[in-house]
Amino acid sequence: MQEPNWLQELIDHLHTKHASHYEGEIATYIPELGKANPDHFGVAVVTADGRVVEAGNSDVCFTIQSISKPLTYGMALEAYGEERVSKHVGVEPSGDAFNSIELEKITNRPFNPMVNAGAITVTAMLYQHYGERTFHEIMSRFSAAAGRQLEFDEEVYRSESRTGHRNRAIAYLLLNFGMVPEHVEAALDIYFKQCSILVNCRDLATIAATLSNLGTNPITKAEVFDIDRVKDMMSIMFTCGMYDYSGQWAYRVGVPAKSGVSGGVMSVVNRQVGIASYSPLLDSKGNSCRGINLCADLAQELGLHVFDCMNAGSSYLNAMLENQ
Ligand code: GLN
Repeated sequence: MQEPNWLQELIDHLHTKHASHYEGEIATYIPELGKANPDHFGVAVVTADGRVVEAGNSDVCFTIQSISKPLTYGMALEAYGEERVSKHVGVEPSGDAFNSIELEKITNRPFNPMVNAGAITVTAMLYQHYGERTFHEIMSRFSAAAGRQLEFDEEVYRSESRTGHRNRAIAYLLLNFGMVPEHVEAALDIYFKQCSILVNCRDLATIAATLSNLGTNPITKAEVFDIDRVKDMMSIMFTCGMYDYSGQWAYRVGVPAKSGVSGGVMSVVNRQVGIASYSPLLDSKGNSCRGINLCADLAQELGLHVFDCMNAGSSYLNAMLENQ
């Protein structure tokens, strides 16, 4: 579909504005990620009716990392239902770093599925459901949302698998409390692989647009996620998606979003648009500096904040009123 010129001009302008900023550091705790190029900066926007606008290095591939977490959470909800999943992982912001070794008091659940403890639990549940097919199922679901067959980065996967002692510690703590079933090593292996799936900004914006379009990919028309689960995925992204910056993000930008340590940020504006950016320079909380600032500007320019008076929304109520 033809993209609107004014949107292309706005995205080009914001890309140029933030490309000259070099604040932040490349993540090195997964050694392979340290090889990222600090000049790389891409952005893509896909509307809920399938228009695509891109700027900068929007075709450079990077590993999805934590942006995989809301997607696998949606898959677990579909496989088990909300009641069962909620016995193993909560929905409360932790206020702590993504890799903190901490569980809820009394329930012993991870706080939410966006911190590593919760995401590893979710992947372990998927493994219990799908067995050896788990990674294949994850890959096909992510590919359907992106609208093309994705691949994973063998080097990043091996690098994290070799050095991911903290995630191993988290997984064994979860096993100790009976939050995950026996096969923690198999679940960890799949978790490391899912984090190593390669996407570019266009893929990520298409995944975001799929969520924005109630689970249906607006370009391929494939029905990827259950419509009821999209609400759950976006809620958790809204409250917990930017780690211990989530409160500030909700205040400043006001849309569901998810970041990853390789430098991707994915934002979803319900029934309107999916936004993705990539820049590997991260702030102290592990969020992409250029990604945060660009998205904040875009939200401001377009009135995307959920409580912005310019955001007319597209609720059922609005549609009913318009049709009267
Ligand atoms: N694979 C990374 C980890 O588990 C994902 C973390 C992230 O993107 N914040 O540490």
